[in-house]
Amino acid sequence: MKKSPQEQELERMLKSSKFSSCGFLGTDRRNLWEVIEEDAAEIAKAGLTMEELAGRMNEITAAGAEGLGDWVQFSPRLRVIVDDNRGIIPCPWPHQVRCLKRITTVHAVDTGAQIRWSDLNIHLIKEHGFFEGRGSPFRIEPRMLVDTIFAHHQTKPEH
Ligand SMILES: [Zn+2]
Repeated sequence: MKKSPQEQELERMLKSSKFSSCGFLGTDRRNLWEVIEEDAAEIAKAGLTMEELAGRMNEITAAGAEGLGDWVQFSPRLRVIVDDNRGIIPCPWPHQVRCLKRITTVHAVDTGAQIRWSDLNIHLIKEHGFFEGRGSPFRIEPRMLVDTIFAHHQTKPEH
């Protein structure tokens, strides 16, 4: 796919020293647009939108934050704990968005799956469809995220 000048500019920016310490693209050999497109296809396959996904993540983080650093039972199968690092981190996109450096950890008691995200992850997914590159410390696998936070939510009614 041919990249537009804006895309090239953004990719340069993401690879620049300012953001490399955060490692948004990790060790992924795909470019930013390929990462975003492949993850978008996964979410579409699951029949969800980025807004629905981010909305659910926000809901879980908000519930977890009430635990003030202790585990909270979000649903019969999901436990959540929120660690507030009391910092802020800027979005790497060229706009003035800053997010709390707050880490949400979700544990699914039935599958044993554990996923964590920062408030920035939620913003990146909702606004930019970006789950970060493979090898990035905060890469979220879309399929695993959907299976963990939406399982038993969208199952067909029993009959
Ligand atoms: Zn942003």
